[in-house]
Amino acid sequence: MIAYAIDRFLDHDNDVESSSSAGADVLPLFTGINLLGTLEFGGGSLRAAGTDFGAVQSSKPLAVIKPLTSDDVAKVIRVALLSQHLTVAARGNGHSVNGQAMAHRGLVVDMKTIEHKIDVNPTAAYADVSGGALWADVLKRCVLGYGLAPRSWTDYLDLTVGGTLSNGGVSGQAFLYGPQTENVTELEVVTGNGDVLVCSNNQNPELFFSVLGGLGQFGIITRARVLLQPAPDMVRWIRVVYSEFSEFTRDAELLASRGEGNSFDYVEGFVFVNSDDPVNGWPSMPLNPDQPFDPTRMTPNAGPVLYCLEVALHYKNEDPPSAIDERAERLVGGLKFMEGLRLEVDVGYIDFLVRVKRAEEGAMASGIWDAPHPWLNLFVSQKNIADFDRLVFKNILKHGIGGPILIYPLLRSKWDSRKSVALPEGDVFYLVALLRFSFPYPKGPSVEEMMAQNQEIVQTCTTNAFDFKLYLPHYNSMDAWKLHFADQWPRFQQRKARFDPMAILSPGQKIFPRNW
Ligand code: FAD
Repeated sequence: MIAYAIDRFLDHDNDVESSSSAGADVLPLFTGINLLGTLEFGGGSLRAAGTDFGAVQSSKPLAVIKPLTSDDVAKVIRVALLSQHLTVAARGNGHSVNGQAMAHRGLVVDMKTIEHKIDVNPTAAYADVSGGALWADVLKRCVLGYGLAPRSWTDYLDLTVGGTLSNGGVSGQAFLYGPQTENVTELEVVTGNGDVLVCSNNQNPELFFSVLGGLGQFGIITRARVLLQPAPDMVRWIRVVYSEFSEFTRDAELLASRGEGNSFDYVEGFVFVNSDDPVNGWPSMPLNPDQPFDPTRMTPNAGPVLYCLEVALHYKNEDPPSAIDERAERLVGGLKFMEGLRLEVDVGYIDFLVRVKRAEEGAMASGIWDAPHPWLNLFVSQKNIADFDRLVFKNILKHGIGGPILIYPLLRSKWDSRKSVALPEGDVFYLVALLRFSFPYPKGPSVEEMMAQNQEIVQTCTTNAFDFKLYLPHYNSMDAWKLHFADQWPRFQQRKARFDPMAILSPGQKIFPRNW
């Protein structure tokens, strides 16, 4: 197989740049690698591995590896260790937006081909899941097979377990259970040294804490033990609208501060434009066509943007409807939204969790799913969020972004500081996500225009000395990364020196040059 693949590489060479520059010199290193999976030097897999959901960056890998086992992954890393310049990027589902899962002239490991395992232990309430499994598959297996479900999610589930654990993984449950990185108890990891290690709080703990939120820098996650809880059958999904940002944040923080059982099971929010714009305005609010948004209910002094608090309550089929109504009313009762601007629907639990998949289908049909997505995700400290609203939402973004603008509170106490994610200082901070879904230029704005707006927002945060961090960060220089990690940088560097000393892993993050 390997000899055939190398022959094909030499045949296809001009497709992949000139042989010397594109890495023909390292081909002998692959002889005898003996993978259970496959190694591809040309064709559609390479093209796919050279792009991502962002569709802003592109690159040319030398080869794509489709491993079947952790051992295959380890063999690939050991080959890279023998060369002077080869790098290795794990690619989950390629849903990064800035080339983070790419390896220019390096090796891309397609994690989705690793033997798919979602082994549920119902007694101990966990699932052992392969790093390349999609969260959507984890959901279906756990709920349909066992009536159990992971506790913490992302909004969209066609992301891999290893991909989100390398970043954090947040959604409307994170205020209760922390990000996904807080909801795994054990990992199997292939380090940049080519070792396959199991790690947890007790076993190889430094590796465990490094890898979670570690941007793929310390190891490739081949298995994760995901905590489960009993799954509900149904969800009451409610949206309420505010004109005043201070009331919106007061209510959002109030709900986020209450513990399990005393709040909703999901709390998110978004900003939308106070107009009838079909994408950015009132029509983006309703949960179903029978309940349109009624602008006559709005207070007369409402500004250019409005705020929607989105909450959800879980229940079982056997719960009496009166008890569900009572719980919902008790929680909604204290909220100060604009009277009459409340929309709601009851949906199945799985339907609720795969809600973005339905949006994906529409976006694919219209062509905006495959268009460029220069997204910006920030964590902004609570102490600066009112100024952020004034300077960014009400000013820079007052006409919307052609897609959702998410904003919801998270609690620092739910994030273990031993893990690698960089967070703002404040105890409460907000996720702000600008999820741009515009038509390609010239029907929509140019990529440059959207990126310039992102830059303006980041610059506004910097100029005003906001306590903030990029989430799913992207920088081009080590100096910028040092600023990002701030006082965590020495630890991040030491971890790199220990677990990936040759800087082979995840070169697309542009943190450490090879052999730094
Ligand atoms: P990839 O993009 O393939 O990889 C991301 C990074 O992780 C790369 O550096 C890669 O090398 C590394 N990596 C991948 N797999 C592994 C592994 N097994 N071990 C070690 N490193 C690995 N994020 C949220 O937190 N909440 C959301 O609600 C949310 N919604 C999203 C919705 C959409 C439509 C999209 C496109 C993204 C969303 N994201 C969200 C962001 C998403 O979590 C990240 O982009 C994530 O990295 C994507 O997962 P992936 O499997 O596609 O990873």
